[in-house]
Amino acid sequence: MLDKHQGARLANLWDDGKAAGMTEPEKLLYRSNLLGSDKRITNYGGGNTSAKVMEKDPLTGEIVEVLWVKGSGGDVGTIKMDGFSTLYMDKLRALKGIYRGVEFEDEMVGYLPHCTFNLNPRAASIDTPLHAYVPKPHVDHMHPDAIIAIAASKNSRELTSKIFGDEIGWLPWKRPGYELGLWLEKFCQENPDARGVVLESHGLFTWGDTAKEAYETTIEIINRAIAWFETENTGPAFGGRSKPVLAAADRAAIAKKLMPVIRGLISAGESKVGHFDDSQAVLDFVTSTSLEPLAALGTSCPDHFLRTKIRPLVVDFDPAQPDVGNTLAGLPEAIATYRADYAAYYERCKRADSPAMRDPNAVVYLVPGVGMITFAKDKATARISAEFYVNAINVMRGASGVSTYVGLPEQEAFDIEYWLLEEAKLQRMPKPKSLAGRIALVTGGAGGIGKATANRLMQEGACVVLADIDETALEAAQTELSTRYGKDFVRSVNMNVTSEAAVESGFGDALLAFGGLDILVSNAGLATSAAVEDTTLGLWNKNMDILATGYFLVSREAFRIFRNQKAGGNVVFVASKNGLAASPGASAYCTAKAAEIHLARCLALEGASAQIRVNVVNPDAVLRGSKIWTGEWKEQRAAAYKMDVDELEAHYRERSMLKLSVFPEDIAEAIYFLASDMSAKSTGNIVNVDAGNAQSFTR
Ligand SMILES: [Zn+2]
Repeated sequence: MLDKHQGARLANLWDDGKAAGMTEPEKLLYRSNLLGSDKRITNYGGGNTSAKVMEKDPLTGEIVEVLWVKGSGGDVGTIKMDGFSTLYMDKLRALKGIYRGVEFEDEMVGYLPHCTFNLNPRAASIDTPLHAYVPKPHVDHMHPDAIIAIAASKNSRELTSKIFGDEIGWLPWKRPGYELGLWLEKFCQENPDARGVVLESHGLFTWGDTAKEAYETTIEIINRAIAWFETENTGPAFGGRSKPVLAAADRAAIAKKLMPVIRGLISAGESKVGHFDDSQAVLDFVTSTSLEPLAALGTSCPDHFLRTKIRPLVVDFDPAQPDVGNTLAGLPEAIATYRADYAAYYERCKRADSPAMRDPNAVVYLVPGVGMITFAKDKATARISAEFYVNAINVMRGASGVSTYVGLPEQEAFDIEYWLLEEAKLQRMPKPKSLAGRIALVTGGAGGIGKATANRLMQEGACVVLADIDETALEAAQTELSTRYGKDFVRSVNMNVTSEAAVESGFGDALLAFGGLDILVSNAGLATSAAVEDTTLGLWNKNMDILATGYFLVSREAFRIFRNQKAGGNVVFVASKNGLAASPGASAYCTAKAAEIHLARCLALEGASAQIRVNVVNPDAVLRGSKIWTGEWKEQRAAAYKMDVDELEAHYRERSMLKLSVFPEDIAEAIYFLASDMSAKSTGNIVNVDAGNAQSFTR
């Protein structure tokens, strides 16, 4: 019954050929990246690695012993050379002389910068003494699911000795810090032949005389744990299945309904972004008999619950008799109860100097038969939180299969969550960007104005869904933006805005990708030119379909989501100067653009009571990067003005009052203003971005 994730052995990826010419710090980097490349070895950002290296002191020229250890806040899988902090070992040893005892251990963190070797600006982590005091040259500290499953079992000491004999020792739970460093040193002195130690409720320490030996020991020890679970944990996962799994399409459909409603209920303090996971490991858990009791116990490894909160919220949904309406109706109370429970936990455990209570909302929402939804301040954090809870699920699966799973005691969990050192780290974080946590959908997102808009919104921290019918341009735009801002922040959907079904499914994909919607930029368009007597019904309808009806369809869908989400909303129409000012030989286009502008006013009126704002940006003559300006339309406009195509840009510039060309970035700037809180008190407005045109002055 073990899935392949838990069952497969870790491969030894060490390549002697690659390592041959490396210095010790380079070998440390190589080993760290190998270890961190597999989530079964350690979670994102979890664990650390070190090497004690002889180096020439830059000041005295003497050869001194230097500890290279992963610095604060890094991730071993992606760390680069500058991610390690470097410290004099003799100074680290001298710290023992000023240590005043366990109740003062936090003050030792303040002495670490005094031990810095070679002015390395990388801050040393809280785990530094753990590595410094293990009297071995190469030390790995990992958070492997299979080892934490042992460490979080009720009889973890007994299990450790049963599986590893004297090779791997065991230490009771102790919050990482200076004292735990001394415990590790004492353990090594008393057990000189041990190759590592399991830390209760936490993880694994292993060591070796060379980088290769440390790496291979780590892999070997984890593989032994995996193999042991394979033979011992043979019963059904989590005590067996008690609920059905819904089909994939039904799971997605339920998630799309739940996510915006949950988001609206928890985003009062800060906007949140969601992530949906219905992988097999999650489904095994959310259909099991043990779901409620195990979820209530909370996670064990400190890294897990710092990311996932002390426990998840199990959503009241019965996959045997699915009634999502009932579940939605119950969500406000379920979320209020979770918040009250969290506040009570804070009150029970707080100390005189504890920082103020943080956001009391759940991060993880488990939906029986459907999967797991996570919400956090941005997409990457929501995704990583989900990964951490999958680690926690693997741990609970292992521990509950061979023993009784135990979470960390509540007070210990609280002391880590509200640790003053952790609070200091949070206080040092940069202020969030103006659109952090906001989710936008941009139609015509692969074109000039659309892509410039997506870029501007992402620059301010928003997540963006690009909607377009041009598959090739869409792919290129997504690649460009994800390279610039990270894969987590951008998705794309193929959307024909004149199709009711395509609009509905595209917005559904956006909900599943990010959990909600705050901003719609309706921008998909075309332009045609013809004298009225030559305007066919087909041409007339095409303009009406894409410009008037298309804007109506996407707005209607956004309004439906905004009303469910109950967190306001923001619509920006990209109309045209021609919606206000008549232009010769383009009656279909101009009339459809006028319809857009009036639609925006109607919607501004309708949405106001729900804090939904609707505004218009009127560009004029944005030639660069625009798809509507390629081909026919350009030639038709040139013909209408009796000039060459090449002369158009200059013609429009000279025609404007300010004698300036208008670029996609200029339009994007106005859209950003209207989509952001800077314009919180504006609705039903029109902003002209046309370098000045008296004909389109609003009145
Ligand atoms: Zn750890």
